[in-house]
Parts: sequence; structure tokens; C-alpha cells
Amino acid sequence: MKIYSRIMAAVVIGTMVFATGCSSTKPTEPAKTEEKAADATAKEELVMATNAAFPPYEFYEGTDVVGIDAEIAAAIAEKLGMELKIEDMEFGSIITAVQGGKADMGMAGMTVNEERLVNVDFSNSYATGYQVVIVKNGSEIKTPDDLANKSIGVQESTTGDIYITDDYPNADVQRYNKGTEAVQALIQGKVDAVVIDREPAKVFVEQNEGLEILPTEYVVEEYAIALAKGNTELLEKINKALEELKADGTVQTIIDKYISAE
Ligand code: GLN
Repeated sequence: MKIYSRIMAAVVIGTMVFATGCSSTKPTEPAKTEEKAADATAKEELVMATNAAFPPYEFYEGTDVVGIDAEIAAAIAEKLGMELKIEDMEFGSIITAVQGGKADMGMAGMTVNEERLVNVDFSNSYATGYQVVIVKNGSEIKTPDDLANKSIGVQESTTGDIYITDDYPNADVQRYNKGTEAVQALIQGKVDAVVIDREPAKVFVEQNEGLEILPTEYVVEEYAIALAKGNTELLEKINKALEELKADGTVQTIIDKYISAE
């Protein structure tokens, strides 16, 4: 009995402390909010560095950057009570922007890899990516293994560039700023194939006649959000928001909006 009542007492006291804690902090909360609201720059900015030439993850619709990443980022910002600001730049500049604090995060269908992990931290993954090979219809290149000794177009600094450079030392690697430029080079016969992420590849093949994607994927990878090394506070907040958005189906709804099921 005694033990029981002691436990009960502890629970009651605990509850009281908790309740007292609540009532003593509560009045200050609205005051804080009011202070913030009075501030001209009401919401803190969440600056996202991206390369808006990568449909359906990020691309222009008029003057707006839209796409899967833009929408997931907006949902994260909303959860964090922050205002999303998107900075468009070359893909190869994103990591530097994040490292130097010019951007809070890099989100650009960016693959997690060892090299990048030296310079930035990554959030949990939010999508699977696939490196694929685009060729002209009827090409003699039938599988990624046929790429050795060929002329291959890639988007500079992407994992496609990194893998091809490592795997095929005898290939002639042509690097372009944008995936579309690599695809134009393929159409013009300047390169024999283009290695790029599958979803943008599908968009580019749809937009241009006479091209196809090889059925065998070259590499499977994971996309995540890059953050400055050691920025664990933001990393934890972003991961929490991301997991909630995955759990409640928001991430899948956004993906489905841009990628139709095969
Ligand atoms: N997933 C590739 C990478 O991380 C390509 C990303 C991109 O071009 N935006 O390198």
C-alpha cells in the first residue's frame, strides 16, 4: 500500500510540476510570438541551393522553380515555421554554397556519396535515384558495359560524370552544364550516349524524337538533402520533418504528382 501510494504521490507531484511548468511558461509563449510577428522579417529564411534544370525534381514554370524537391522543401519549411527561398545555381556550386553558409541546404536530386560526405552532411534519403543511359534509337550500345571507348555526355560534377570517369578510363567524357545540353549533343551526333538520372532522362527522351533509355540501369543511388558539416540542429529538424512527411504520405503524393507510375 505504502509503495503504491508513494508511486501515486510521485505521479501526482510529477503531474503537478508538469502542469505548473506549463502554466508558468504558457503566458510567455504568445508574447514571444507577438515579438516575432512585430519584427519585419517575421519568418526565418530556409535557403535552398539547387540547379533548376533537372525535371521533374526542379525546373522552371514561368519564373518559379517547381518540382518534387521544391515541393518537399516547401513542406519542410512550413513544418519548421520558416520561409523557403530557392537559389538557382550550377550543380557544381551547390556543395560550396552549403559549406560557405550561402545556403542552408542543397536539394537537387543530389546523390549521397563518399566524396560529398567529406564536405557536407546529408539528411535521411527521400528518394531512390537511378543512373541510366540514353542512346539514339538503334544504337549499337545495348547495355552500360558497351560504353567503354565511347564518347559519353554527362552533366558536369554529377555522379554520372564521376562513375563514368572512374569506370571507363578510355571513354571520351564530354561534360555539359545542363542535362539538356548533353542530350542535344547526342542528337547532333557529338556523343554516342548520355548518362544521367532516370527521371530527367525520361523527360528529355519524351521531349526529343529518336532517343531511348537502355533497359538496364547503370547505378542505383539515394537522394538526400545536403547540409553544412556539423549543423546538427538543422539536420535533426529536417530529418524529423522529412520523416513526418514520409509517414503521412506527403512525400509520396508529391512524387506521384510529378512521376506517373509505370
Ligand atoms: N543525382 C546526380 C548527382 O547527385 C545528379 C543530380 C543533378 O544533376 N541535379 O550527382
